[in-house]
Amino acid sequence: MDEKTNNSTERTRAYNALFKPKNIVIIGASDNLSKPGGKVLRNILDHGYGGVLRVVNPGADSISGVPSFKSVDDLPDTPELAIVAIPAPFVVPTLENLAARGTQAVIVLTSGFGEKDEKGKEEEERMRVIADSAHMILIGPNCSGFMTPHYSGKFAGLIPDLKRKSVDIISGSGATVDFVMEQAVYRGLSFCNVVNVGNSAQTGVEDLVALYDENYGEDSAPILMVYLESLKKPWLFLKHARQLTEKGCSIVGIKSGVTGSGARAAASHTGAMATDEVTVEALFRKAGIIRVRSKVEMVDVACVLAAAQGRLKGNRACVISDAGGPGVMLADELERQGVEVPILKDGTRKKLSQVLPPESSVANPIDCLPTRTASQIKEILKIIEAEEKGSIDIVAVMAGNPGMLENGELYEEISRAIDTSEIPVIPVLSSTTTCADLIKNFTSQGRYYFQDEVPLGAAIGKVVHRPRLWEPSAILQDYDRVAIESILSGREGALDPATAKELLSKAGFRFPRQIEVFSEEGFLAACGNIGYPLVMKVIGPLHKSDMGGVRVGIPQQEAALSAWNDLMAIEGAMGILVQEMIPGIEVILGASRAGGDLGHLVMFGLGGIYTEVLKDVRFALSPLAKKECFEMIRAIRGYPILEGVRGEKGVSVERIADYLERLGRLVSDFPAIREIDINPLKGSGTDLFVVDARIIVE
Ligand code: ADP
Ligand code: MG
Repeated sequence: MDEKTNNSTERTRAYNALFKPKNIVIIGASDNLSKPGGKVLRNILDHGYGGVLRVVNPGADSISGVPSFKSVDDLPDTPELAIVAIPAPFVVPTLENLAARGTQAVIVLTSGFGEKDEKGKEEEERMRVIADSAHMILIGPNCSGFMTPHYSGKFAGLIPDLKRKSVDIISGSGATVDFVMEQAVYRGLSFCNVVNVGNSAQTGVEDLVALYDENYGEDSAPILMVYLESLKKPWLFLKHARQLTEKGCSIVGIKSGVTGSGARAAASHTGAMATDEVTVEALFRKAGIIRVRSKVEMVDVACVLAAAQGRLKGNRACVISDAGGPGVMLADELERQGVEVPILKDGTRKKLSQVLPPESSVANPIDCLPTRTASQIKEILKIIEAEEKGSIDIVAVMAGNPGMLENGELYEEISRAIDTSEIPVIPVLSSTTTCADLIKNFTSQGRYYFQDEVPLGAAIGKVVHRPRLWEPSAILQDYDRVAIESILSGREGALDPATAKELLSKAGFRFPRQIEVFSEEGFLAACGNIGYPLVMKVIGPLHKSDMGGVRVGIPQQEAALSAWNDLMAIEGAMGILVQEMIPGIEVILGASRAGGDLGHLVMFGLGGIYTEVLKDVRFALSPLAKKECFEMIRAIRGYPILEGVRGEKGVSVERIADYLERLGRLVSDFPAIREIDINPLKGSGTDLFVVDARIIVE
């Protein structure tokens, strides 16, 4: 189902057929619970389905009380959704049948296609063509099924009871859906729509996210987990994930398989460092997705999001514990994550000490000692809510099993606070063995918990510092689009220094004074014009320093003449660039195509010879908003260097941000630019100059 070629009513129909079908047929259903067709029927029946359910099985008149038909042709009407669980050789003809009948959605559970061999891939291509030409949405093959509040059409793994407006999953892998749910349900999370795409013959995760976004409404889940293996339509994914974020849906995402393409052929530093990993990071940021790397981390972040319910706006946490160690460990992790654990107000502390014994600590973390009682915790939670509202953004309450009292009552008090407190409350229940039954009771009432405090701290950090969405500004001063267009027209390959300068100048970049010289005649005059000491660079080779083609600090004529001879002897030398010496700090700005239809990645980092070794760089997808540029600059480890260290004058972050914004605009406006390196941009304060620029046009 292509986003562009299908109109919106058709897409809404496809969505409804998949997520809330009124009429389902299971083709290949049986009584045999060891087979997908048997299991999926059982699950739909067990979890209740309000629509019309039929099965196709030539060997029976009815299965588990559901009317059975010999073939698709015998069905009394057109099923909105067909779930196909028949041997592989019959799948394609059945799809043809369903398409001819006008079925809107098909989920093929059958495996043994593209995941098996080339022939299977060809079959999948046939399925796609059949589905596309009939405007039918096709999920799978090799899909473990869909589970929505309307039907539990899933055959494998866990089939939890669904809860509206909880958590949805869209996954590139059926197994991952189950692994995530195993972790999540155990921790108390609930799910609503649980869907996966199998082999994605037609519909990939990106397409489902698009469909999901288009139909996202009041009743939708506020949290969406996305697991991506392949990413064939990155732009489509970005667009819809970003729109979902804008609508208030918090997306937690994993992209697996990002380490393969570290060494892409590239002519620039930027291109060489713009790996898949970097691209995914930038894509997720741009879409506002909270990126995680493991299933447990995904569950952790979802728990914090669910506890916060959109209320976590600040980064100040209060930690309540019944043992010193865990409280401090959580405080440590929060601090590492840039989350504050502020000292509580005098009044709060006074009130707390009226509840707790004198040996306890009431600063923050609050250590209630192992003697704590349920009523003490209740009082403490009340005091924090009453006194610290507006100065504390989240409360973490940790309860172990000191062995003196049963925890049941305590958990009830925590539950009450979770349900009623205006400040989000999230528990760490660490005694998972001795309190197993009580915890089970706790989660069965729809509450979630952490087993360990450090992952909680990490998850709070991720939520507090989640990527924010910024809109690039429409207007840029001193940016001459028309002039740039005419400079670029007809160009191909690496631009010579003069053209690169002309182009970047029209985009608002500043250059040092420089003159290109192509014969010895006029060379000394040019040097005189620039003034000593000066810089000489060979024109011709792309990587000048590597060939000894850059001489800095040339003090006088004699040295200039000798450098002329050396540089012109370099292979490929066509002339010399004579340039003003620029003192100061060096940074690198660059851009390179992100791959697919994603546009360009813009890079920022410290410049100089260690750029690629230290990789202290940051990427973002163009076009960039000014705020994004500031974020990129502040995110590098070497940021203090920019501010100036040990008496050296710093550089204007504002100025660099302005340049980054220009660069983002330039490559967005002119995708023909394959790669740009401004390496270095050099200077101090606001006097920052493009000392060296490499631009590749394609
Ligand atoms: P390349 O990247 O091809 O090796 P550059 O023009 O970037 O060549 O020069 C290499 C290095 O020389 C720069 O990173 C910078 O440290 C120094 N350099 C180049 N031009 C100047 C200049 N005008 N003023 C000061 N230093 C310069
Ligand atoms: Mg350079």
